[in-house]
Order: sequence, then C-alpha cells, then structure tokens
Amino acid sequence: MNRINGFIEKEAKNLARQIAKERIAPGAAERDKNGVFPHEPMQTLGESGILGMVVAENLGGAGASRTTLASVTSELGGACSSTALVVLSHLIAEKAVEVTGTDLTKDKWLSLMVSGKALGAFAVHEADSGSNAGAITTTAKKDGDHYIVNGSKFFITSAGEADVYVVLVRTDPEKGPEGMSALLIEKDAQGLSFGNSEDKMGLRSSSSRVMSFTDCLVPVGNLLGTEGGGLQVIGQSVIGWGFFGAAGISVGIARTAVDLAVQHARERTIAGQPIGAHQAVQSMIADMIVQSEAAEALLARSAGNSDISPASANINGFKAKLFASEAAVEVTNKAIQVMGGHGYCRDYIVERLFRDARGLMLHFKTSEWLRQDIAKAALEL
Ligand SMILES: Cc1cc2nc3c(=O)[nH]c(=O)nc-3n(C[C@H](O)[C@H](O)[C@H](O)COP(=O)(O)OP(=O)(O)OC[C@H]3O[C@@H](n4cnc5c(N)ncnc54)[C@H](O)[C@@H]3O)c2cc1C
Repeated sequence: MNRINGFIEKEAKNLARQIAKERIAPGAAERDKNGVFPHEPMQTLGESGILGMVVAENLGGAGASRTTLASVTSELGGACSSTALVVLSHLIAEKAVEVTGTDLTKDKWLSLMVSGKALGAFAVHEADSGSNAGAITTTAKKDGDHYIVNGSKFFITSAGEADVYVVLVRTDPEKGPEGMSALLIEKDAQGLSFGNSEDKMGLRSSSSRVMSFTDCLVPVGNLLGTEGGGLQVIGQSVIGWGFFGAAGISVGIARTAVDLAVQHARERTIAGQPIGAHQAVQSMIADMIVQSEAAEALLARSAGNSDISPASANINGFKAKLFASEAAVEVTNKAIQVMGGHGYCRDYIVERLFRDARGLMLHFKTSEWLRQDIAKAALEL
C-alpha cells in the first residue's frame, strides 16, 4: 500500500479511495452486523500515513489541510462510516496533542499516534451534561505531581480500544468555562475503567462506551494547554478540525447512496421496464444528486475558507456539518425508497448507510445546537 507524505489533496483523496475500496468496504457489512471494531482497516490506514495526516510535516505527519481532511473522511465514510468515525476521533486527539501537548506528552505519544501504533480518542460528553459541554462535572484535583480525576464520560467513540484520550475535566468547580481543562489520559491509567459497548442503531463497529474515573491518577505533565484552557483545546481540535471530518463522513455516505440508487434504478426492471424510466423515481434521484452535491460543495467552501482563515473554522464547520449530516439522512432515506423492499434489507448497503447517517446528526453537536450557534453568531448574541 502506498504511503502519504506531505501530500496534496488529490493524492490523499485517491489513496483514501483506493484503501476504502480494497481494504475497508469489503468487511464493512460483517463488522456492522457483529459490532466488531475495525482493527484491520485501522492497521492499513496507519501504514498508509493517513492516521498522521493532520500533524505538521516537521513532527512526522503530512500537514494536511481541513480541505484534505474533508476529502479523506468522505472517501472513508462512503465505504464504512464506523471506520471513518474511529479515524476522525483519532485525528482530533492527535491534533490536540500536537497543538497543545507538553514536550513530555508529544515525545511519548505523537509519533506513535502519527504512525497509527497508538490510537487516540476524545471524551467530552457526559450523561448528565448532554449536548452542553459547559455543564460537565468530571473533576480533576491537583495533588502534588498528579491530578486525581473523578466522574464519567458517556458515549465515547473508540473507548476501551484507544490507547490515549483527550478528556475535558473541571479543575476548578467554582469557575464556569475558565474552570475546565483538558487532560491526556492513558488507557491503563490507575482508576480508569470502561463500560460495555452500546448497542447502537448505526455506526455499530465504532465502539461507544462509558469511561469511569475513580480517583484516577494522571501526571500533571499530561495537561493539554493551560489549566482553565480546556475549551481552547477543544476549540483547536474537535471544533477547529473535527466538524469538517464529520461533515466529510456524511458527504461520503450520501455519495455512496446516490451511486447505489442510480445503479439499482438502471438495473431493476418491472414488466420489462427499468424503474428509472418512471418520472417519480427520476425525481427522487435528481433530488438526491442535488442534495449530495450541495453538501459536498458547502463542505469544500467551508473547509477552504477555514484553511485560509482558521479563526472562522468553528462557524464554517458547524454549517458544513449541519447541512451534510441532514442531507445524508434525507439522501439515504430516498435511496431506500428508490430501492423498495430491497433497500430495506440488510443484504443491501443503503439500510446501513441510513442508520449510520442518522447517528451523525447527533455526533458532536446536534442539529439543534448547530442552528442555535450559527444563528447566534450572525445575530452577534
Ligand atoms: C455515534 C456517536 C458517537 C459519539 N462519540 C463521542 C465521542 O467520541 N466523544 C464525546 O465526547 N461524545 C461523543 N458522542 C456524544 C455526542 O456528543 C452527544 O450524543 C451529543 O452531544 C448529544 O448529547 P445527548 O446525546 O446527551 O443529547 P441531549 O443533550 O440529551 O439532547 C437531546 C435533544 O435535546 C436537544 N437539546 C438539548 N439541549 C438543548 C438546548 N439547549 N437547546 C435546544 N435543544 C437542545 C438536542 O438537540 C437533542 O435533540 C457521540 C454520539 C454519537 C451519537
């Protein structure tokens, strides 16, 4: 398999497409059915260099832009969205370590993460804080040269599989947003345990678990950024980069659904006529194509603008993720309609695409939060 190195977008996209087709898509249905984590695809992706793509070249990565990230995740997402989600969680964690890690954490983890030998994930969400990251209650109290972490995180992609986690905690419960910090917590940290994998509707091989911290000991050197600067760490990784990847996965799902529906409408004949000859079917296909391409175009524009002006990345990413995640649900829903009963059966890929697309409307920020944030930015509230 080829490796990427200081690649340009087109090369990265082509490489991701080749790996997706040859090494990721073939096992996707089986992994989905059995809820099996994508270990083999991740190994291939590690060897290719894709798992280090967003890290600067002088640190061993490929220095990929947000535009490239969006292209790569769309190729992976169109083949197996669970694998793409695991990749995205890793890339976000890696970005946080690169930009905000101490020399100690970078020396220990960055080259392992870039090569895919160590897997990363991020943990913000808690059962009681829900969509509101500002309401988290997991605490980290400094005691000598360690933080003592107590609390739990919910629905964490790759939890139990990843080697390191970027975890948002409260270092000062008296302060609001300024009381939050980000820690890099290792899988085998004393006092960290994992729950069972959730039995999800879709994205079934991405492994979502509870992480529980009971007097969990974390060296102070594992602080990312500054104490009280947790939201900035999330801003420079999850928000500054992750939303383009999430939108990319949705774009990939929509594109695959369009291709499958078109192929089916050409091949499926009833009473000697292909179903694609009917105007009602053509209308669904036209809407699917336009929605899918609109999502792709908005993502390309949003990512491109953010590459030029990183300060605008949050709102640009929110717009791209909102539109793409909703478009993917609508497009996959229509694909099932075009394919009739076939599309509703597990033997056909579109039912998995629909289930996976649905989860992406909840992942990171829900559509409702994204609408609020986009409107508030425009209204300067
Ligand atoms: C597949 C998947 C993978 C995930 N992976 C991760 C991960 O790796 N790391 C991580 O930290 N988290 C992860 N999450 C968690 C994800 O971030 C949360 O599910 C998401 O933030 C929504 O929180 P919730 O599920 O608690 O919903 P809730 O917060 O309970 O929301 C329920 C509903 O109420 C609405 N709502 C809530 N508050 C408001 C408000 N103020 N205004 C308007 N509407 C509101 C929501 O939009 C939603 O429709 C993942 C989720 C999914 C589905």
